[in-house]
Amino acid sequence: MNGAKPDPIEANLASVRSRIAAACARSGRQPGEIRLIAVTKTFSASVVERAAAAGLRDIGENRVQELRTKAEQVGASVRWHLIGHLQSNKARVAAQLSHVIHSVDSLDLAEKLAREAVAAGRELEVLIQVNIGAEPQKSGVNPAEVETLAKAMQQLPGLRLTGLMTIPPIVEADETRRYFRNMRELADRLGVRELSMGMTDDFEIAIEEGSTMVRVGRAIFGERG
Ligand SMILES: *Cc1c(COP(=O)(O)O)cnc(C)c1O
Repeated sequence: MNGAKPDPIEANLASVRSRIAAACARSGRQPGEIRLIAVTKTFSASVVERAAAAGLRDIGENRVQELRTKAEQVGASVRWHLIGHLQSNKARVAAQLSHVIHSVDSLDLAEKLAREAVAAGRELEVLIQVNIGAEPQKSGVNPAEVETLAKAMQQLPGLRLTGLMTIPPIVEADETRRYFRNMRELADRLGVRELSMGMTDDFEIAIEEGSTMVRVGRAIFGERG
């Protein structure tokens, strides 16, 4: 590029950032409290590089293999967030390459991640994925089981449990807000700081209800092919 044509990612990003700022202003929060995770799943590694050039440092992927391929190209100049369901047999690669894993949903997985993090000499930031609507088909821990899992995870070496993540049921905005509020109450009760919630369609509501990490794909990169 010769500078004539700005990358559309930059304009989209500016718009997302101003929407984040507006949601913060509505709820008495500071934009600095919100980490924007740019979700690049299905987009190429060169899109990740463009995102980094636009100032995005936190990159979200939902599959370990895809994260690995892109990490090989892009390297450690960005912080990799694994946000999708993780199978135990991929725990090693996930623990080696991710900076934050949002989708821990069982003690078995947490123990494997802890072992691999220790073996790799890393401390891994992890969140528990909560199935806040208790939907039968969805991954995540049911709200009633979160506290037991959190207590067990806090005993594990190599892991630093910082918060909770959720993908709420697809419902009307008012009801979405209620699920986000339930998440905030759950996090407060456990004494954890981070709340990973809010995507393209609902990140403003999530911020108003206390999100600290929004995971945004389409609003920055456009529709996925
Ligand atoms: C794809 C995905 C996102 C981003 O969704 P958009 O609607 O593109 O913003 C966020 N979180 C998870 C877990 C995802 O899989």
